[in-house]
Amino acid sequence: MSNVTKPSNFIQQIIAADIDAGRVSTVVTRFPPEPNGYLHIGHAKSICVNFGLAEANGGQCNLRFDDTNPDTESDEFVKAIIQDVKWLGFQWGGEVRFASDYFAQLYAWAGHLVEQGKAFVCELDAETLREYRGTLTAGGKNSPYRDRPANENLVLLEHMKNGEIDEGLMTLRAKIDMQSPNINLRDPVLYRIKKQAHHRTGTQWNIYPSYDFAHGQEDAIEGVTHSVCTLEFAANRPLYNWFIDNLPVPSTPRQYEFGRLNVNYMVTSKRKLRALIEGGWVEGWDDPRMPTLSGMRRRGITAQALRNFCDSLAVAKTDGVVDVSQLEYFVRDDLNVRAQRAMCVLKPLKVILTNFADSETEILSVAGHPSLEHFKTRELPFTRELYIDRDDFSEDTTLSRKKFKRLVLGDYVRLRSAYVIRADHVKRNTAGDITEIRASIVPGTVGEDPPHGIKARGVIHWVSAAHARDCRVLRYDRLFTEPLPEAGVEPFTHHINPQSLEVIDGCKAEPSLGQAQVGEHYQFEREGYYCLDSRANKEGGLIFICTIGLRDTWQKSKT
Ligand code: ATP
Ligand code: MG
Repeated sequence: MSNVTKPSNFIQQIIAADIDAGRVSTVVTRFPPEPNGYLHIGHAKSICVNFGLAEANGGQCNLRFDDTNPDTESDEFVKAIIQDVKWLGFQWGGEVRFASDYFAQLYAWAGHLVEQGKAFVCELDAETLREYRGTLTAGGKNSPYRDRPANENLVLLEHMKNGEIDEGLMTLRAKIDMQSPNINLRDPVLYRIKKQAHHRTGTQWNIYPSYDFAHGQEDAIEGVTHSVCTLEFAANRPLYNWFIDNLPVPSTPRQYEFGRLNVNYMVTSKRKLRALIEGGWVEGWDDPRMPTLSGMRRRGITAQALRNFCDSLAVAKTDGVVDVSQLEYFVRDDLNVRAQRAMCVLKPLKVILTNFADSETEILSVAGHPSLEHFKTRELPFTRELYIDRDDFSEDTTLSRKKFKRLVLGDYVRLRSAYVIRADHVKRNTAGDITEIRASIVPGTVGEDPPHGIKARGVIHWVSAAHARDCRVLRYDRLFTEPLPEAGVEPFTHHINPQSLEVIDGCKAEPSLGQAQVGEHYQFEREGYYCLDSRANKEGGLIFICTIGLRDTWQKSKT
């Protein structure tokens, strides 16, 4: 399906060189999410890069949860992340792994550093510790506890672990160099006391390793050869290497950093996504406006479209912002060949065909797709009473044929896959609104050109009134009115688009849409790509979500 060729990237070149030189035999990468939220589009890129590199080199990619901070992590997130990675179509090597599986080993290695005189128990409180760390321009200050003897440190560490010391009173710190120009190397914290139950280890631990202390060693335990992460961790690399050099680890991972994926009109920090939910701006993690994988899936974006998008992106050594229209291109490109065609009238206006028998139902046979034959032909009932869209009719007979290729009073239009009709006159209610169009068919025009002298202005969609299924349509606009909602001085929520959700009730769908299933994709003719809302239940009636319009109307409507 994908016609996207993955551009080679600098990490692939490094891997190829490592294999050529015999430094690496089996390539092992990993995707290490923290289970403190749902995966988003940035994670999709990281997944595609990591699984892609493993696949391209006949290696394996591990899925490892970095669950070192019990405060914000949960099983719900673990399950959702597993589902999302599977949905993207990737299979990890072996079992799902967890940082918490290595807590005992990490603790033993902390003890090793203490024994070697390379770590100490520090009693500075958090604020003083921060002060002592120094700044980018000034060096730090040694902790007064730095030279505590190893045996004393070991005893205190044990007390910390056993829950005998209160939170905040002590930390275990590495003893590296408080004068290092790299702040990460200024005696970083390895363990904090946290009397908080963990979603997997329960109350077994009263101390938890810092991300920095855990990360590289986990890679070493798993034999990860190429540890790929985003740029913000470049300055942590010397620290990771220090741990690897000073611990009896079973292997030596190498870290490589690439630029984060940012997409305009989106935010992708889990903290901000959570703020959107907590602020009631969206319904939840799987709201179709969210840049989460679950949100995009519910929106009707396929895994293939997302992968094609990710594969089209450079793996670069700088951060950049990708235009959301690049994602939209791949979404349309994918749905065009996947979506069954159907008709649904969003703003129904009744049309009575005065020369079509009241008792008659003509069954028209219509292709499911204009060019792909594996789509089933469907049957469309054609009757005297139809619905067309209000926007497809005008009484203004001066409208040029070029500008308005729809139905105009006294003129002709083709109903998609059916007859050419002419609008003869309109009926109004007491308020003066049009309630009904009286029209007539031109006989013999199904699949045939109209007789000489009759020219349809264009083609519009329709449904038989008697057979139409009532439905609700959810249409979405961008969640933010600014391309870079995080860039300004105001908080990003200041730029939320108050009109990002449009609920349209009373839409009329062709009868075949009554059987629509979750996971199917439809192109509602002349409207856009749609799918059934996976959250809606049958009793609540039919609800369709607009995945995306047929072309980019955003720029047009805003200018
Ligand atoms: P967030 O800021 O959204 O919380 P994170 O980096 O803290 O992101 P993790 O769960 O730690 O989230 O991320 C797992 C992996 O996904 C990491 O290797 C991280 O580098 C990568 N990742 C996260 N966001 C992006 C992004 N926008 N682009 C590319 N990779 C990303
Ligand atoms: Mg993180």
